[in-house]
Amino acid sequence: MIIALDGPAGSGKSTVAKLVATRLGFAYLDTGAMYRSVAWRALEEGLELNPPLPDESIQAMRRIAADEPITFGYLPGRATPSQVFINGREVTTQIRTPATDVAVSPVSAEPGVRAALTEQQRVIGHAGDTVMEGRDIGTVVFPDAELKVFLTATAEERAHRRYQQNVEKARSAGQDYNGLDEDAILADIQRRDTADSTRAAAPLVAAADSVLLDTTELTIDEVVERIIALAAARREPLQTTAARREPAEEQRP
Ligand code: C5P
Repeated sequence: MIIALDGPAGSGKSTVAKLVATRLGFAYLDTGAMYRSVAWRALEEGLELNPPLPDESIQAMRRIAADEPITFGYLPGRATPSQVFINGREVTTQIRTPATDVAVSPVSAEPGVRAALTEQQRVIGHAGDTVMEGRDIGTVVFPDAELKVFLTATAEERAHRRYQQNVEKARSAGQDYNGLDEDAILADIQRRDTADSTRAAAPLVAAADSVLLDTTELTIDEVVERIIALAAARREPLQTTAARREPAEEQRP
């Protein structure tokens, strides 16, 4: 079973997807981490990423996406992967910097990059039950996913959550968090909303058959419970059909 979890930046997809995957014993795939990894390599190569992109940049980023496999690693005691590697090099923290936040928009708008990463995502999803989060999982990567959920929340609420997450991260690392700026986070979220929704290739849009969940007024636990209930309801008819089929098969000569 594929659970496709799509939505804009900061909608809580990652937190929710990891919890749902852990509860159901499903694999978890963060497709945003894949686009971020290619963006990080594009920065490392010093590619020109300002529009209009030169042909050289387009060819180089396509080559990176096609030739440099992205893999994930588990930390001890964690049910879902937390480490990200591109071509065997760990980029877990590097792909979460403000520079990568900016570079990922032109990189993810490039159809050649999307084609290469979509192919890798389908291979991973075909390996077994998976919760896959991103922007185009229900529309492009797995249009036949058994359950599609589109998470939304107001931009202000998403920025506030991201700000609190960053404060928490800095606090637990013993770092100063007074310089963190909620307005700057809101501006980045709004910029990425526009870039993701207006690009020609696989824009961010809810699939027609997805369940829309506005999480502005919901806690993480409430969102997780709703998705688990939806998954159970989608699975039941499949299991009932399988159970009905079994005795008939036993009766065969
Ligand atoms: O999910 P996250 O915010 O980490 O994604 C980073 C960026 O990667 C998004 O802003 C979007 O441009 C791109 N992305 C995408 N398609 C996906 C997942 C992410 O275009 N399936």
